[in-house]
This record gives sequence, structure tokens and C-alpha cells, in this order.
Amino acid sequence: MPILRVALDLPLPRLFDYAAAEASPSDVGRRIAVPFGRRTLVGVIIEIAAESALAPERLRPAGPILDDMPALPAEWLAVARFASEYYQRPLGEVIHAALPTRLRRPLPLRLPPAAYALTDAGRAAVLPARAKAKRAALDLLGDGPQPASALPPAALRALVRDGLAAPAEAARPAPRFVEEHALTPAQVAAVSAITTAPAGYQAYLLAGVTGSGKTEVYLHCIARALASERQALVLVPEINLTPQMRDEFARRFPGARVVTLTSAVAANERAEAWLAAQSGAAQIVLGTRLAVFAPLPALGLVVVDEEQDASFKQQDGVRYSARDLAVYRAHAAGVPVVLGSATPSLESWTHARSGRYRLLELKARARPGSRLPDVRLVDSRVDPPVEGLSATLAEALAARLARHEQSLVFLNRRGYAPVLACGGCGWIGGCTRCAAHLVLHTADRRLRCHHCGLEAAIPRHCPVCGNVDLAPFGRGTQRIEETLAARFPAARVLRIDSDSTRAKGRWEAMRGAVHRGDADILVGTQILAKGHDFPRVTLVGVLNADAALAAADYRAPERLFAQLYQVAGRAGRAAAPGEVLVQTRYPDHPLYQALVRHEFAPFAEALAAERRQAGFPPFVHEAVLRADSARLGDALGFLGRALAAAPARRDELSVFDPVPMSLARLAGRERAQLLVQSHSRRALQGFLAEWSQALYAMRTGEVRWHLDVDPIEF
Ligand code: ADP
Ligand code: ZN
Ligand code: ZN
Repeated sequence: MPILRVALDLPLPRLFDYAAAEASPSDVGRRIAVPFGRRTLVGVIIEIAAESALAPERLRPAGPILDDMPALPAEWLAVARFASEYYQRPLGEVIHAALPTRLRRPLPLRLPPAAYALTDAGRAAVLPARAKAKRAALDLLGDGPQPASALPPAALRALVRDGLAAPAEAARPAPRFVEEHALTPAQVAAVSAITTAPAGYQAYLLAGVTGSGKTEVYLHCIARALASERQALVLVPEINLTPQMRDEFARRFPGARVVTLTSAVAANERAEAWLAAQSGAAQIVLGTRLAVFAPLPALGLVVVDEEQDASFKQQDGVRYSARDLAVYRAHAAGVPVVLGSATPSLESWTHARSGRYRLLELKARARPGSRLPDVRLVDSRVDPPVEGLSATLAEALAARLARHEQSLVFLNRRGYAPVLACGGCGWIGGCTRCAAHLVLHTADRRLRCHHCGLEAAIPRHCPVCGNVDLAPFGRGTQRIEETLAARFPAARVLRIDSDSTRAKGRWEAMRGAVHRGDADILVGTQILAKGHDFPRVTLVGVLNADAALAAADYRAPERLFAQLYQVAGRAGRAAAPGEVLVQTRYPDHPLYQALVRHEFAPFAEALAAERRQAGFPPFVHEAVLRADSARLGDALGFLGRALAAAPARRDELSVFDPVPMSLARLAGRERAQLLVQSHSRRALQGFLAEWSQALYAMRTGEVRWHLDVDPIEF
């Protein structure tokens, strides 16, 4: 009787054996339903063995092998295994996190087949029936009939079953590429460096200023991959950027099948997109970090746009870096990977400097006549802001209004005010579950914790002394919105932050309004900074950036620079010249000076020198063990025992003492961590592998723990 070795979504670093009546090597990579305790779980078959270490009476029979989709290919399992080993998480957890939710259930996948039919020419078209299924199908097929091969295999099988299609397939026409611009010389150089390189893996860092036309470089490289019948994987940092990118791909590659994988895509669609990637029917797979796990049998190119963005790092569960896994996948598949950014991460920058990555630079804007904006620093000591706005910025806003141009006011803090306080006794509204203040939201009259989501009504009087004069301190986007509306009554002010865009469809509607010119002043957070092309914006005002200068995190300056550079890049993207006004008390600060000169490289070099000297990444490799508990003592106690259980051999390693985290209390849990550093990635990995075995074997009581490899937040 064959033994199936199955990966299950359980916090145990091993596989689970089940007995099967029959199984063949082709079942490796298939999903299977198996009993576990009194539950039925879905697992993936990793190995078929002749015998098990389990006693025969403890070996349970496996449930059915799910043959609703082809087995996950060996390359895909290798990626999952790499992520499992590198990030120190059980393989089953990694696989589970990577699969779309529809495939995480111990049931065969059922997709809405009635949405498809085959035309006389043998091409798949969309039936007018069932609006929802039709929308999903349209999304897959585009507007016109497509070859039957463009269908997900499950849908095609369902059609055959329902007698709507015969299992014969028409040949698929090759997708075309619509050339749109004559490339600039810098773009030509970048494209040809990538497309004429010898076949095989190579990482490129495409460092291009905002508006330099990095997308056009991606498109040309993708065209090359598609022409040789390969697939392209494109990762973007923001869900909100996918519709715009997707439209661009659809327009520029007629006949190509583009699928989107993000958490906003409905479950069935996501399963179909996944299957289309796995069958090779989808030529372009576009998505956020989770798309890095798409199965891609014919992978020919990987693109990571805004590669420095922190959102590529998953912050819970399997804490992977999609950027790093993207590079790994390109390496494993022997194909090029293009990392694009105006402000590369110091990690990638350092690789480019050392020659590990090839540096390709685009130093000027691509559109004829478009220049980088003029960045000016407004000294808050000389021109003190009133209700957040300096006189200089207020005048500049008035001038844009008079000229019917758009302005953008950037403040990376949502809500009305970050603190509600009592002037009588000094009481401050705090979260009962976190070491944090509650943020005042006046739009819906609530106090809200931005860390755990706790909500409370706004008190009428101070809960300590009864004083009714409770006052908001500091300002967020809602307050600036109010100020702007009062200062410029004729202006149409549009606030764009995660509060105002939460409801489905809101972001799309707002983007449309901005593009049509139905808004004069945009007020927003970092949502507005990333990648968007708002051609009507000619002025960007930056408020309260100094707050981030004071942060203790050594990555804060790198992030602040990237953010300000990005948001500054929103100004003047079309012909009208752009202006950026940054209100600051420290106009001489090197970060602001670099921003004024649009100089990333010298700034990066200076930061890198500091990091090297201080022994911070990318010059050392790091991992942290974090623990949380109802009591801080328990979390610290666990870390102490974990330290005692760590491997004794610690050559090339520094293991630090347990300390409380900087946000020590979150959602009612006290949090602490322990840092491990090494100059050798290999030494660190060896240590972690051994240590995590010991950790999984420890008794933890109610303490929860996890390892975070290459952490970016502390
Ligand atoms: P980036 O991603 O580098 O910030 P984009 O790719 O968004 O820049 O390009 C900025 C603008 O320049 C887009 O509107 C794009 O259509 C335009 N563009 C790109 N390449 C060219 C070119 N070679 N000639 C003219 N316009 C171009
Ligand atoms: Zn009080
Ligand atoms: Zn909270």
C-alpha cells in the first residue's frame, strides 16, 4: 500500500503520512482531502513512499485525491520548499498561504461553466446568462471570442461535460504588441541591455526618475517574452495600481491573456486566474505580493515595479518578501528579473553597486517637454503654518485654482487629529488594547485605534475630570480637508486616503474624478504617492514630513526619502511644469537637500555608509524571534528560554537579549523580540534551521511566537 506524504496547514514543521489504496508519481503536487483529528483538511502530496515510520494502526487512510486541476508542478513545489526553508515556516503553511482560497478547501473546485460557450469557429465566447459569472468570464476572456485554449482547464472540461464544446482545440493566435512611443535613447539602452543579454538569469535594477518611462521598458521586455511564447510575471506594490496597469497591458498586447492576482479579486476569479497561469493560457500575470506564488510553467520574465516598497513584505503568517522571492524565481527559472524604482531599496542598490545586479538608469523624464518638478523647501520657522498651511503654500494653491490646475496636499496621517486631549487634567484618549493613542475621526464621529481597529464614541467630557473642553491636537487629512474647504470655498477638495477609499469602487470613482478634472485640491496620504499618473497636478504641498525624521527606526530616512520623492513626482507629469513645496523646520537636512536636487545616488551612498558603519542591513543579515503574551513577563520569559535552547555554536553570529518591541502592547498582547545578526547569510540560515526545530518542540503555554527573517519592522 503506498504511503502519501502530505503537506498540511499546521504549525508543525513536518509532513504527514497517510495510507492510500493506490497512487502514482504523477499524483505528487495534487491536492488531497485527509482526515486530521475530527476534521478534514486539504493537503498537497509531496512524496509517495513505500513505508511509514508510523505504526500501521496509527496510519489513517487518505481521502480522495482532488483531480479538478493539474498537479502543482515540481518547479512550483521547489519555490514553496525554498520559501519554507528560508522563512522557517512549515511547508504546508507556505503552500496554504500561496494557494487561492478556493483551492484551500478539501473540496473539488467548481467554477461557473455556464458563462462560457464555444462559437462555430471553435473559440470560447461568453454567454449572456448569469451576470456575475459573465463578468468573471469576460474578465478572463477580454471582449471578444478567444481560442478554447484560453479557457481554464476546469471550465473547458465543464463545457465538454455539458456538451457545449468538443475536446478539440483551435490554435491560439500570438498576441501582438502595439508600439506607442519612439523610445528615448535611455529607454532603448535599457531595453536592449535586457533583451539582448545571453539567455539565463540576470537581475537588473532599473533606476529611473519619476516619469522616466519605466513602464515602457517593462512593456518592451514583456513583448519580447511573449514573442517567444513565454509568460511574464509583473508585481506591483498596491492593489489600486493593478486596474491601471491591467488596462495598459490589455491595450498594448491585444490577444494576450492578462490575469490579475490580488486579494481584491473575487475568489472564483482568483482560482481561474491561478489555473490560467498554471495552464500557460495566461501570458501576463499581474498582481500584488501574493502573485509571486503563481504557477508559471513558461516563465520568461519577472518584473517588480517600485521594488523598494514595504508592501512586498508580508507582515503576518508566512513573512516572505515577494521582491526577494521574485528574484529567487527568476534565478530558478533561468530568466531575467527587472526591479524598477525611482528610489531603489538600499539592498538592491548595494547589489547594483557590487555588480550582482546590472544597473540601468533613466535620468530624465520621457515625455517630450516634461521636466522634473522644482522642489522648494518652505522654512516653517520663517513662514509658520497656520492650521497646517504656510503662507507660501496657501498662495501657491490660490494660484493653481486661478489657473484651473490641480494641486495635491500630502500628509501621511489619516483621520482628523492624532490625539484628543483634555486641557484641564492632561488626559489623552488612548487605546485600551495598545500602547497607542486613539485617533479622532470627525467624518463619522469616532475615536479609532490605527493599530488594532478598536473604536469608541467621542466622549462629551473628560472621563477623568469631567472637563468638557476636549481638544484635538495635531492634524490629519480630515482636518486639512476642513481647513482647505474653509480657506478656498470655491475649490472642490477631494480627500483620498484609506478611509475615504475603503468602500468598493470608491477608489476607481475618485481616480476618474481626478482625471476628468472634477477636483481642484487632492488631500491624501501615501495612497496618492505611489505610481499614479495625474497629469493635471502641477503643485504638490508636503505637510509635516519632519515627524518621520525623528523616528527611531534606522530605515525611516530611506522610507521618507522614497515617499517624498514619489509624491513629488506626481507634480508636472504632463507639459505644465510642476512645483513641490515641502514645509519643514530643517531645510538644511541632507535628506531635503537631496530631494531638492533630485539626487538619489549620493543620498543612497551616504545612507549606505552609515549603515555599513553601524552594522545594519544590507551589510548584515537579520532575523528576529518575536513573542507575544497577555503579560510582558511571559513573552520575555519565553524568549529567555528560547535563547537558552538556541544552538551552542554561534560562530559568525550575534544574538541579542530579549527586549520589548517599540509598540510593546498591541491588541491586548504584550510583545517582545530577540534579534539575531550575521554577516553570513548561510551561517544565519543554518542557525535558524536548527533553532526553529528546538522552538517548535518547546512548551509555550499561551505565548505565541514567530520568526521573521529579513524583518523590516521592529
Ligand atoms: P515611470 O513609471 O518611470 O514614473 P511612466 O512609465 O509612468 O514613468 O511614464 C511616464 C509617462 O511618460 C507616461 O505617460 C508614458 O506614456 C510617457 N512615456 C513613456 N515613454 C515615453 C516615450 N518614449 N516618449 C513619450 N512619452 C513616453
Ligand atoms: Zn480631564
Ligand atoms: Zn489598539
